[in-house]
Amino acid sequence: MLKASSRAISKFSVLIICAALFGWLFGYVLHSITLALFIWSVLQLRELRKLKLWLAEELVTDPPDASGEWGDVFDHLYRIRKLRRTRESQLLDEINRFQQFSSALKDAVVILDKQFNMQWWNLAGEQLLGLQKQSDKDKPLFNILRDPSFIRYCQRGEYQEPLLQKSPHNSDIELQYTITEFGESEKLLVARDISDLIRLEQTRQDFVANASHELRTPLTVIRGYLETFLDQGNLSGPLTKAMLQMQQQSNRMQSLIGDLLMLSRLDSTEVTLDDNPVNASQLIISILDSVEQASEGKNHHITVDIAENIGLSGREKELHSAFSNLVYNALRYTQAGGNIHIQWRCDKTGGCFSVTDNGPGISSIHLDRLTERFYRVDDDRSSDTGGSGLGLAIVKNVVNRHQGQLKITSTLGAGSTFSCHFPLDTLVELDHPDR
Ligand code: ADP
Repeated sequence: MLKASSRAISKFSVLIICAALFGWLFGYVLHSITLALFIWSVLQLRELRKLKLWLAEELVTDPPDASGEWGDVFDHLYRIRKLRRTRESQLLDEINRFQQFSSALKDAVVILDKQFNMQWWNLAGEQLLGLQKQSDKDKPLFNILRDPSFIRYCQRGEYQEPLLQKSPHNSDIELQYTITEFGESEKLLVARDISDLIRLEQTRQDFVANASHELRTPLTVIRGYLETFLDQGNLSGPLTKAMLQMQQQSNRMQSLIGDLLMLSRLDSTEVTLDDNPVNASQLIISILDSVEQASEGKNHHITVDIAENIGLSGREKELHSAFSNLVYNALRYTQAGGNIHIQWRCDKTGGCFSVTDNGPGISSIHLDRLTERFYRVDDDRSSDTGGSGLGLAIVKNVVNRHQGQLKITSTLGAGSTFSCHFPLDTLVELDHPDR
């Protein structure tokens, strides 16, 4: 282009010099230069007009014929227009593909600005959330999703855990909402239909609850007969041994059924924090009163440190089950003569119930999985002690239902600490701790 413009300047200079010479020959220098300038301007205007007409065309056609520097300008503009058209069609292809892909998505995807106004959504957004293209664009999300717990979830700004809620458009649909932040505090809301999963989970829970319930009656009959036969005392030695084993196994089965029923109750009921706080110290003492049997003459050295005036909002039966599971585990797994320390304390961060023992401990590779249902570190160790593998699953479930957290620390060969941490707002100061 630079070359073209210097060529144009030299041509223009030659034209003016020739016109001046021509005029000088005939004594009309000024007239001659003016005429040359006029002709030059007309030619330029003609090229400019061609350019304007060509640029106005919708399609990018070949550039009009032009000579010299105008030809270079046309060629250059032609290349730019061609490139822009190619990019436009690539972009259009990408937009089309994105629209096809977002329409094929089963999850509702909504793009929100900083103030939770809806900027864009896909087809599933219309089907699952009932959004409407014409009327809902740029409107606040909370006009559609009005549930206070959803609004709290959005405004809290902690989106690590998803939120489960019914669709505002169809109450038969259960949705799992997740929010991801991007750009300048904009948000991507994804709502997934998990109705089938919930139904499946419900069926599983119902099956476990019904099967456990149905097993209880025949087991009670079997245990009753076993007890009667053993009480009569007229059985032969080998038969008595077999009967005792049957009794031991049926006791295990009964505790397994009890644990399964407890877990299915926990899964199927919403937690409601009682107005009457649970007297935690009394609860722990009542558990300690009943542990002698579980200790089975192992002569454990048990120490206790309990804050008597601190109660806990929650369900007494559930807390009893969780705390006693931890105490019983310590008694069952700690060797004879071992130390067990039981503590209920509160500080600035909240309350903590903990059971520490110097038993066999647990290798760190098992710690993350200990609270899974039926997970056992060592099958022999658990069957020796009659464990069901459900105890810690129950503890975790109960503690979580009380907004708390179960923490497990353990060193193989040195012992373990199981602690249940409860937030400050679940604690209650008791006026009459002995009540
Ligand atoms: P179980 O009924 O088998 O005791 P739990 O869920 O209560 O089931 O415990 C899971 C596993 O954790 C147990 O099998 C046991 O190996 C281990 N465990 C629990 N408590 C202790 C403890 N205090 N010391 C050592 N191991 C423990």
